[in-house]
Amino acid sequence: MRVTLIEGFNPGPYTGAGNNTYLLSGLEPTLIDAATGQTRHLAALDEALGGSALSRVLVTHAHPDHASGAPHLASRWTGAGFFKLPWPERDGEYRVDWRPLVDGDVVHAGDGALRVLHTPGHAPDHVCFLDEADDTLFCGDLLIQGGTVVVPGSYGGNLTDYLASLARVRELRPARVLPAHGPEIDDVTALIDEYVAHRRRRDEQILSALREGHTTHAAVVRVVYPDLATELLGAAGESVLAHLLKLEADGAVRRHDATWEAV
Ligand SMILES: [Zn+2]
Repeated sequence: MRVTLIEGFNPGPYTGAGNNTYLLSGLEPTLIDAATGQTRHLAALDEALGGSALSRVLVTHAHPDHASGAPHLASRWTGAGFFKLPWPERDGEYRVDWRPLVDGDVVHAGDGALRVLHTPGHAPDHVCFLDEADDTLFCGDLLIQGGTVVVPGSYGGNLTDYLASLARVRELRPARVLPAHGPEIDDVTALIDEYVAHRRRRDEQILSALREGHTTHAAVVRVVYPDLATELLGAAGESVLAHLLKLEADGAVRRHDATWEAV
C-alpha cells in the first residue's frame, strides 16, 4: 500500500510536533485521522491527492486533534465518507455523518483493505487499523516512540483496558507501526514491554505515596510528579486517577470520599 504522511500542522503541549495523518493512495484514497482542519493540512492533502477525490476518512478516536478536522475535510471533499467506532458522548461535537465501525470490520482503503482493531484505554472508542497485506499497523494514540501515552481517568480513559490493548497488539507483532504523533515505532515489542514496566512502577509509586500518608488525589500527583510544568499537570492528574481506578478495580486500594487507602 502506498502511504504518505501528511502532517496536521497543529503543534502544542499535548500534540508534540502535531498530528500525523496518513494518506493511503490508490483506487479509493483514504485518510487515517482528520487532524484539526489547519489550512496547511488541507493544502498538503490536496497536493498529495494529485487531483483525485478523497474517498474516505478513518478516525482512530474522538479526541479533537484526531477528529475536529472532519467537518473541514467534509466541506472540501463532499463525497468522502467518515468512519469511526462510536463514542456517542463525543462524536456529535464534530458535524459529519459518522458511519460506525466495529472491531473486526474490514474497510477498503487505497488499493487494499484495513482491519479495525478496537483498542480502548486511551479513549473508549480508540481503534488501530491493520493493513494485513503489508503487516503495517496504524496505531493512533496507542503508542508513541520516546514517550508515554496519557490515559485520562475522568475523560473515557481506562488503564485496565489500555494494558489489554497493548497485550493485543504485542501478540500481533506488526512489522511496521505508524503512530499519530512522532516518528515510526522502532521496536513495538520493546516499547510495549517498557510501557507495561513503566505502569507497574507507577502503580508501586502511588501505593507507596498512599502508605506514606499522601491520601488525596492532589497529594499523590505532587509526590509522583514533583517538578512537572504547570501546563502538563492536568494530564498528570488524569493519569494518576487512571492508576487509582485500576488499583481499585484490582482490589489494591479503597476509596473513602476524597481520600484513597492502600489495602
Ligand atoms: Zn488521543
